[in-house]
Amino acid sequence: MILRYLAIAMVAAFAILPTALWATIGSFDPETATRAYTDTLQGAARDRSDAYFEGGYWLVLWGTIVAVLAEWILLRTGLSARFRDLGERITKRRWLVPALYAIPYVIVSTLIVLPWTIYTGFVREGHYGLMNLGFGAWLGEQAIGLGLGIIGMALFLLALFAVIRRSPKRWWLWGTGIIAAFFTIGIAIMPVFVSPLFNDYTPMEDGPLRDRILAMAEAHNVPADNVYVFDQSRQHDRISANVSGLFGTMRISLNDNLLERSTPEEVEAVMGHELGHYVLNHVLVLVVVLSLIMGLGLFVTAKLAPRILARHGEKWGVRDIGDPAAFPLLVAILTVYLMLMTPAQNSLVRIVESQADAFGLDAARQPDGFASIAMKLSEYRKIEPGALEELVFFDHPSGRTRVRMAMDWKAANVESPVMVVPPAPEAEPEG
Ligand SMILES: [Zn+2]
Repeated sequence: MILRYLAIAMVAAFAILPTALWATIGSFDPETATRAYTDTLQGAARDRSDAYFEGGYWLVLWGTIVAVLAEWILLRTGLSARFRDLGERITKRRWLVPALYAIPYVIVSTLIVLPWTIYTGFVREGHYGLMNLGFGAWLGEQAIGLGLGIIGMALFLLALFAVIRRSPKRWWLWGTGIIAAFFTIGIAIMPVFVSPLFNDYTPMEDGPLRDRILAMAEAHNVPADNVYVFDQSRQHDRISANVSGLFGTMRISLNDNLLERSTPEEVEAVMGHELGHYVLNHVLVLVVVLSLIMGLGLFVTAKLAPRILARHGEKWGVRDIGDPAAFPLLVAILTVYLMLMTPAQNSLVRIVESQADAFGLDAARQPDGFASIAMKLSEYRKIEPGALEELVFFDHPSGRTRVRMAMDWKAANVESPVMVVPPAPEAEPEG
């Protein structure tokens, strides 16, 4: 009796199921599906995400003003000229003076802007719950950065002023080559010599997730030992992953927050995106593009700096453009130029990011994993900006754009797509 009853019930269920499925398939609408995701970020959480990100727009402007002010102080007080004098007293080799100049220049300019750096890099991040380091530990990381900055700047100024002295008119062209070389070498050595100073990088732990991740990597000819996990939860709770290095050192790194806070489908979606960066050689693409942007900046600087020096150079104790003491002026001009280029830079990076998104959807085939991870990334990135706002200020597609791309992909590539109703967001500890 019971078996018979069960059999009838099962037949009935199977008869009903296809009708129900057809109803959903017929109604899969990417816009409705997108809205279901974006609606999960509401109220205080959405306000906080918007406020954090919009505040960043102003930081671009204020950061430029603070930086230019710092360079102006170095020139106006004659400190820059004194740093050069110090270098000339220490060595008779003229080519070496710019490297010696770099040491006090980096230290003093870092100290001048330190209050601003503390506010933007530590206080503000903590205010939004995005900082796990104590102040001492954070300051320690800044000190490591300062040490690296001194080494890098000394080498860079050595090369830059060598070409300015040799070619006072065309130095910007050679300078562009130097910048491209420094980008290339810097990025190539970064994962080996720099990143380990801040975090531990380890191979992924054994398990089903590791197998899935490495299978995806292998499918795109990325060697398994080029995939790392790093302990970024030391610094903050944000989900993140990246492709770093160049040529022999190129690798994919997933942070521990991603593995802790995400489902396997979400991790796969992120891995697909990073594979896109890796396979499409985006690091190299960006080195070329950013070098060209810097090249235009050096051209503008080479035109403007001599005119400003003709007016104020004597007062500042700066002889000419081949004098390392002129460096704060070059930095000030470049800083303003780069601020004006913010929309161009953001858009170029955003285009590359969007390509990686498209690649990742094809590689991972996890549109809902991708959509829900895009929502998690919107904890610190405004979810629904205006079109112009996204164009100017976003270096990644916004959460809404990404979710929509995933839902469009799903409509086009998944047979009989069913709308997933995303779970309510995690309870917020701060309330
Ligand atoms: Zn990316």
